[in-house]
Parts: sequence; C-alpha cells; structure tokens
Amino acid sequence: MATLIRNGRIVTAVDDYSGDILIDNGVVQTIGRNLSVGADVQVYDASGLLVLPGGIDVHTHLDWEFGPTQTVDTFGTGTKSAAFGGTTTLIDFCNQTMGQSPLTGLENWHKRRESACVDVGAHMIMLDVNAQSLADMKTLIQREGVTSFKLFMAYPGVLMVDDGALFKAMRVAGGNGAMTCIHAENGQVIQVLVQEAVEQGLRAPKYHATTRPSILEGEATHRAIRLAELAGTPLYIVHLSAGEALAAVTEARDRGIPIHAETCPHYLFLTAEDYERPEFEGAKYVMTPPLRDHHHQHQLWRGLRTDDLQVVSTDHCPFCFNEQPYGMKYSKRQGVDSFSKIPNGAPGVETRLPLIFDGAVRKHGMSINRFVEITSTAPAKLFGLFPKKGSIAVGTDGDIVLFDPNEQWTIRAAEQHSRIDYTLFEGRQVTGRVKKVFLRGQCIVDGQNWLGREGMGQYLRRGEAGRV
Ligand SMILES: [Zn+2]
Repeated sequence: MATLIRNGRIVTAVDDYSGDILIDNGVVQTIGRNLSVGADVQVYDASGLLVLPGGIDVHTHLDWEFGPTQTVDTFGTGTKSAAFGGTTTLIDFCNQTMGQSPLTGLENWHKRRESACVDVGAHMIMLDVNAQSLADMKTLIQREGVTSFKLFMAYPGVLMVDDGALFKAMRVAGGNGAMTCIHAENGQVIQVLVQEAVEQGLRAPKYHATTRPSILEGEATHRAIRLAELAGTPLYIVHLSAGEALAAVTEARDRGIPIHAETCPHYLFLTAEDYERPEFEGAKYVMTPPLRDHHHQHQLWRGLRTDDLQVVSTDHCPFCFNEQPYGMKYSKRQGVDSFSKIPNGAPGVETRLPLIFDGAVRKHGMSINRFVEITSTAPAKLFGLFPKKGSIAVGTDGDIVLFDPNEQWTIRAAEQHSRIDYTLFEGRQVTGRVKKVFLRGQCIVDGQNWLGREGMGQYLRRGEAGRV
C-alpha cells in the first residue's frame, strides 16, 4: 500500500520546507504541495511535526557473544528499540574469530540478524590479519557489501592487533573503497595500569576510568591517523571521548586528510562522576573509552559544531545490571568483585535522537539540518548507504520519522523496548519526541504502538565508503 505523509515540515541536512511525501514500493515517489491521492493510499497528517530522514546508527553490538559475555538484545529486540527511537538503519559489528575466515564471521552474523525489524548492515571486526584474511576482505567488499572494517588498538590478547597488522588492513580497505574504523586506546599501557590497580586492591567500578586515561586515547588516535596517512587511506575513529583524540582528528582534517570521527551521547551528557554511584551502580556506566570530565565534554560539543566530529552513534552494547532474568553471562554482575571483569558496554539505541535534538538544537544552538546531518546523512555517506538512506528526496527509501520538537518527556528504562534493565539517562527530561516511524513507507511505530515485525528488516549491501 502507498503512503502519503502530508503537511509536515520536511528537514534534511540541507533543506527545510513544508510539503507532502508520497511513498510507494518502499521508495519516495513524489514530493510536492497539496498532493491528491486515491482512496487506496494511507494518509498520515504531520501538521506541527518535523519530517526527518530515518536515523542511522552505525555502532551497535546486538546478540554479540564474546568470551564469557553476551549482549542481551537480540536483533529483534535491539532493532525494535532502535525503531522506537527513530532509527531505521543500523550498522552492527560482526567479527572474525581467531584462526577463521572473516567470511565465516559474516555467515554467523547473518543467522542472528534474521529477526531484525529495521534495515541492517555489517562492519567486520578483523582479529587475525594474514594473507588469506586480507584476500577475504576484498571478497567482503566486492561480493558481500561489507565496506567497513574495525580494528582494535585496545584489549591485548583478545581483540587488539599490532600496528603492522593495522597498517596492512588499512591499505587493503582503503585500496578497495572501504572504510577502516578504529578503536583507539593504547591497550598495552592500559593493561599495565589495570593490573597494578587490581593488585593494589583498587577494584571498584571507578577504577575503570582511572586506568584508561584520556592521554592514551589521544596517543592511539594520533598513531592511527599517522598510519592511515602513510597508507593513504580514509579513517573513522569510533566512540571518540577525549579532547586529546579530538585534537588529533582536528589537526588532520585541517590538513585535508580524510579522517572522520564519531562520538556517543553518553560522552556528551555524562561524566566520570557517575562511577561514584553506590551499590555497584557505577558499573552501569562502564564502557570503553570511559566517561570523562566536563573539559572533554565541552571539546566534543565544539567538535560537533565545527564538523571535526561528523557523527553521533550509540555504541549500544547492552548488559543487564541485574543477573536476572537472563543470567550472569548477560550481566554487569560478573565484575562485582573487580572492575576489570565488568562487561564493557552500555545501552542507548532508543534515546539517541531525542537526546541529541535536545542537546544540539535546543541547548547548543545547532540547526535542525546539522542534527539530521550528524544522526543520518553523514553516517549514510561515510558507510556507502547514500542516497538510498540518509535523506528525503525522490528515489530514497521511505524511511521517515515524524518528530515533535516541542514535546517534553522523561526517559525511563521501564518504557523502553530493549531487553536491558536500565538506561544511562533515567529520569532525564528532554524536549523533542519521536511520534511515528516509517520503514520503507510502512508505519512501524505509532506513538507507543508497535506495528512492525521481526524479520522485516533487510540486509544492506553497502557501496563504497564516502568522505564528509
Ligand atoms: Zn562498540
């Protein structure tokens, strides 16, 4: 059935006007004023609402098993939560297993993602860089539409690759039109600091932050950028949290080098003070990099304004606070005796758009165009989805969010749709709320009502990585 969204204020990264949008076969067919349609078209009135391109979150970990831990959202629950937050596209992480082909990692991920309710693409985490896996990267890019690869400079012995492997993978990715994503923290020095803290009996959640100081994020970011510069390839720094790291990105971009970076809502709104919460509650905030202080936060907002940061994604990596009902494997309680055993990750996929709208547009004076750019358009361009995703124009997918810029509401974990039992933003008041969400023209969220279904999300075979 065709869909008409009428009388809305349509805002993209560059446009702002009122009009009607006709979507048929999942794609925007016509945009105009006072469009007349037959009785067979479902009509939605968007008077008083913003009509925005569906949000794109390029950093999630759904149903991700790693070592003794597993994230608690399935693709079904994680993408439903995303949809209620106005996000209609995710790029999720799948990983190579040591000694195996990354192609096997992708196959396993495809089985898990079948329950997705919104469209999903995959980044490949490379763990074992060798001649065969470098050849497999080309197959992933050319045959499977996986056009981004993530490498870790942290977690030695688990996820980390050395600089030589990093450099080799960057060259293959960049030389074949793909993006290299980097987790930039100096893992070996962090390991020393963590071991020393644990030996000294400093085991509360707050020591997660003190053992991962911002200078080590700055150092790794600088190193990754220099290696990318030598390799002549573009780079994307994930979850940037530190002023030192942003300075390295800013310096590179000022020289015209294709370096990009994202930050996440928790770094923009929260600080390391949250680790002091009693009753082990600080564990809820244990993610990497850790929360920083206000000085870093001001830098991040500055970076978003000046386009030194181009994307806000969530790093949705949910582990329950309580052991029940899903079990210890899915719970922060694994680390009750030592911060070093707390699963690293936090939820956020449902709250990104309202938080960033409230923070960026209402409190930091950014335009609604810029809000759309950092939450939808730039991620689409960087990760080979534009113009199918990331905008509203004739021929784009009919992924649309009707957003009330004036509604005030309070974030509550109990009202969210993830399986997780907490939110980082419990009780926070925000202005701006998702009212309706369309995936390829089909209304899947209508207020509090769920109209989508598991399995309706499509796999996104992505094109060449872009630059912004
Ligand atoms: Zn992550």
